Amino acid sequence: MNNILVTGGCGFIGSNFIHHIMRINKYIKVVNIDKLTYAGNLMNLNTILDDRYHMIKGDICDKDILQLLFSEYQFDAVVHFAAESHVDRSIDRPNQFIQTNIVGTLNLLEVSRDYYVKSKNEKFKFLHVSTDEVYGSLGKSGKFVESTPYDPSSPYSASKAGSDHLVRAWYRTYDFPSIITNCSNNYGPYQFPEKLIPLMIINAISNKDLPVYGKGLNIRDWLYVIDHCDAILHVLNQGKIGETYNIGGNNEIKNIDVVKTICEILNEIQPKNNKKSYQELINYVTDRPGHDFRYAIDASKLKNELGWVPKESFETGIRKTIHWYLQNHEWWKAIQKKNYKQERLGVMN
Ligand code: NAD
Repeated sequence: MNNILVTGGCGFIGSNFIHHIMRINKYIKVVNIDKLTYAGNLMNLNTILDDRYHMIKGDICDKDILQLLFSEYQFDAVVHFAAESHVDRSIDRPNQFIQTNIVGTLNLLEVSRDYYVKSKNEKFKFLHVSTDEVYGSLGKSGKFVESTPYDPSSPYSASKAGSDHLVRAWYRTYDFPSIITNCSNNYGPYQFPEKLIPLMIINAISNKDLPVYGKGLNIRDWLYVIDHCDAILHVLNQGKIGETYNIGGNNEIKNIDVVKTICEILNEIQPKNNKKSYQELINYVTDRPGHDFRYAIDASKLKNELGWVPKESFETGIRKTIHWYLQNHEWWKAIQKKNYKQERLGVMN
C-alpha cells in the first residue's frame, strides 16, 4: 500500500492515526481531507513536515473535490474517520450528523467505487471506522460481538449505524472491497475537550467542577487511541474484505471510577497547593437523555484472526494521557480561546 486517503485526519483519532502510520511506514503517502469543523485542528499535525503528507481542506459531501483527489493520487486505500462524533451535540442538532455521517459516507463510497471500477486497482480497499454505540446498550452482563444486532439509541449512533449499513451494502451489492471496524470509547492525546477524559483532566487542573452525568454508573470499555490506530493498521493490512472487526481495550470502567482515577493520579503527580484532593471538584449533574448504560467489546475475532491485542491497560494509558494534557497546555488553551466554552450540551432545555 503506497497511497492512502484519510478522511477527518485533523480530528482526534485521525490525527493519531496519521502520526502512527507515518512513523511505522517510511514509504506511505497520506492525503488527509478534512472540513476543519470545530473538532478539526491543524495543530494536531503541525509537527509533520514530511512531503509524503498532504492536507486538503474539504468536505466529504463534495463529490467534485473527492473525484479530483482520486484522479490525482490514485489511492490504494481509504481510511474513513470523518464524522460528527459527539453524542451530546447530536441531541441538540442532529441534521449535521445525518449530512456528514450518512450522506458524506454515501458520497465517499460512490466516488471510491467509481475509481475502483475504472482504475482496476486490485489492491484498493475502503476501511470504515465506526463505533460500538451502533449495538445499543448492554445490561450488566454480555459483550458486543460482530453479529450483535444493531440497536442505536442516539442520533449520533443512529447515523453511524446508517453509514455502516451503506458500507456493508456496497460490499454485498457491488462487490466493493470494504471492511468495517467498530470500536469502543477512545482516549489519549489530541482529544477535543468536550469528551469525558480530556474534559475532566482540563477542568481538574483548572480547578473547575468535574461534571459527572447522573450517578456516574454508566460503563464504557476504554481503548487507548494508539492501540486503536494499531488495530486499524492490522485490519488494513490483513483484514478480510467484507468483514467487520470489533476493537476494544478490555477495560470496562464506570464513569465515576474513571474520574476518581484521574483525580488520584493528579493528587500524586500534581498535588494542589492547598493539599485538597481533586475529588472534591466532582459534581453530579443531570444525566444525558437516552444514556446507554454499558458498552463492552468482545475483540476475540481480531485477536484470533489477525493476532491483535491492546498494549495499554487503563492504568498505563490514562497516565500517558494525563501527562500529555499537562505538557500541552497551549494545545487545549488555544481550543478554549477559539471556539469552545465547555458549556453543557444535549440536555434539551
Ligand atoms: P473527531 O470529532 O475528533 O474528528 C472528526 C474529524 O472529522 C474532524 O477533524 C472534523 O473536522 C472532520 N469532519 C467532520 N465532518 C466532515 C466532513 N463533512 N468532511 C470532512 N471532514 C469532516 O472524531 P474522532 O473521535 O476522531 O472519531 C473519528 C471516527 O471514529 C468517527 O467516525 C467516530 O464515529 C469514530 N469513533 C470514535 C470513537 C471515540 O471514542 N472518539 C469511538 C468509536 C468510533
